[in-house]
Amino acid sequence: MHSVIVGGGIAGLALAIELRRLGCQATVVEARYPGAGNTTRNVGRIRRMQLTQDLTEFSCRASDKWRTVAKLTGGHNPLVYRTRYVWVMYDQSELDTAAAMQPMWISCNARARPVGAAEVLNAVPVLRGGEPVAGGVIGDAAIVHHDAAFYAYLLRARELGVRFELGQRALAVQTTAGRATGVALADGRTLTGDVVVNAAGGMAGQFARDSGVSAPNQPVRREVLVTEPSKPFMTPAVTFYRPQEGWFNQTLRGELVAGVVDVGEPLGMNEASSFRFLGRTARVLLEKAPRLGELKVVRQWAGVYDTTPDKRPLIGEYPECPGFFALNGWSGRGMLLAPLSAELLARQLAGRGTDRMLEPFSPGRFTGRDVAVTAHGDYYSGYAH
Ligand SMILES: Cc1cc2nc3c(=O)[nH]c(=O)nc-3n(C[C@H](O)[C@H](O)[C@H](O)COP(=O)(O)OP(=O)(O)OC[C@H]3O[C@@H](n4cnc5c(N)ncnc54)[C@H](O)[C@@H]3O)c2cc1C
Repeated sequence: MHSVIVGGGIAGLALAIELRRLGCQATVVEARYPGAGNTTRNVGRIRRMQLTQDLTEFSCRASDKWRTVAKLTGGHNPLVYRTRYVWVMYDQSELDTAAAMQPMWISCNARARPVGAAEVLNAVPVLRGGEPVAGGVIGDAAIVHHDAAFYAYLLRARELGVRFELGQRALAVQTTAGRATGVALADGRTLTGDVVVNAAGGMAGQFARDSGVSAPNQPVRREVLVTEPSKPFMTPAVTFYRPQEGWFNQTLRGELVAGVVDVGEPLGMNEASSFRFLGRTARVLLEKAPRLGELKVVRQWAGVYDTTPDKRPLIGEYPECPGFFALNGWSGRGMLLAPLSAELLARQLAGRGTDRMLEPFSPGRFTGRDVAVTAHGDYYSGYAH
C-alpha cells in the first residue's frame, strides 16, 4: 500500500512515519521545504481541556500521545515540557460557561477545574492591571518546542525510508473511474499511489477544492511576537477567554511569546507579519500586565489556522472521492492533534479498522450543508455555543 501525502508539516510527516511502522510505503510531496508551513510558526501548546466532550476526549488522548513521541521518533528529543494552562475570565457569564463544563472535564480526565480570581493571580502574578480578573480555569498542559519536535519527525521519517518530493507543488488529485490514483505535480509529472492524503495545512481546503471535492476549511492568519529573554516570572500558558484578548506565556529561555486575535482579520492565506498586530498586542498586554512593558520585542512571525466551521478537524475519506483522505482542518490545534490523528488514520489506511474517536471528524459531515467559516470564532470560546 503506497500513500501519496500532500504537505510536509507535522501532519504529513507523522502520518508517513506511522505508515512506515505498519509496513506501508509513503511519499511526501512538499511545495516548499519540510516544516515551511504552520508547524514551525506556532507556539506548541498541548492542552487536554477543550470545550466539547468529543474534542476533550480526543485531546486527552492526543496529549498522552505526545509522551510517546520521543520513542516514536527513535530517541530524537522533541523537547516537550509539562506546564499548566490558565484560562482567564473577566465576568460571571464566562465563569458560568466554565462551571457548566466541569462535569464533562471530570468524566474525560481533562485535569482542569474552575478557580477563583485569587488562584488565577497566584498562578499569573503579572496580571495586575485593567479590568479585575473574575476567575478562570487551571488545567494540565504541555508545551512542545516546535522546531525540535518537527526535526525529530523529519529525521525519523528519513531513517524509516519515507520518500520526499521537495519543492514540488501538488496541483490536484488524479482519478480513475472516480477513485484517487495519484496527484498531478507542477513539473508535469504524475505521482501514483493507492491513496492520496491531504495534509496541506493552510492550503488544504484549496487543494481539496482544486481536486473537485467540496471542503469548507479556510485559512485565517494568526500572528505571534517574541520579546528578549528575562528572568522567569511565570510558568503557565495563559489564554484569555475573549479571543481578541489573546494569550501569552514565557518560554524556558525566558522570552515572552504573545498574540491577540484581530476580529477583523480576513480569511485567506497570509503569512506576513503586520505592524498593526504589534500595536494591538502591546496595547492589550500593557493594560492587563503593565510590568511586561519593560520587555523589548525582538521578533514576530505569522502563520495561519486551517479553520473549519465547527472548529473540529477533518480526518478520513472525502465521500465525493474514494481513495482521497483528509488530515487537516486543525483550527489552531494541529500540534496537539496531528500525532494521534496520524496514528489513527494510518491504521485505517493499512486496513486495521477505523477508530470510533474519528467519527465526529469525518469530512462528510459538511456535505450538502450550507456552512461558513468565521474568521475570529476560533477555539477559545467560539465553538462552545
Ligand atoms: C500563530 C500560531 C499559533 C499556533 N499555536 C498552536 C498551539 O499552541 N497548539 C497547537 O496544537 N497548534 C497551534 N497552531 C496550529 C498548528 O501550528 C497547526 O495546526 C499545525 O502546524 C498544522 O500542521 P500541518 O502539518 O497540518 O500543516 P503545515 O505545517 O502548515 O504543513 C502543510 C505543508 O503543506 C505544504 N503545502 C501546501 N499546499 C501544498 C501543495 N499543493 N503541494 C505540496 N505541498 C503543499 C505547505 O508548504 C506546508 O509545508 C498554531 C498556529 C499558528 C499559526
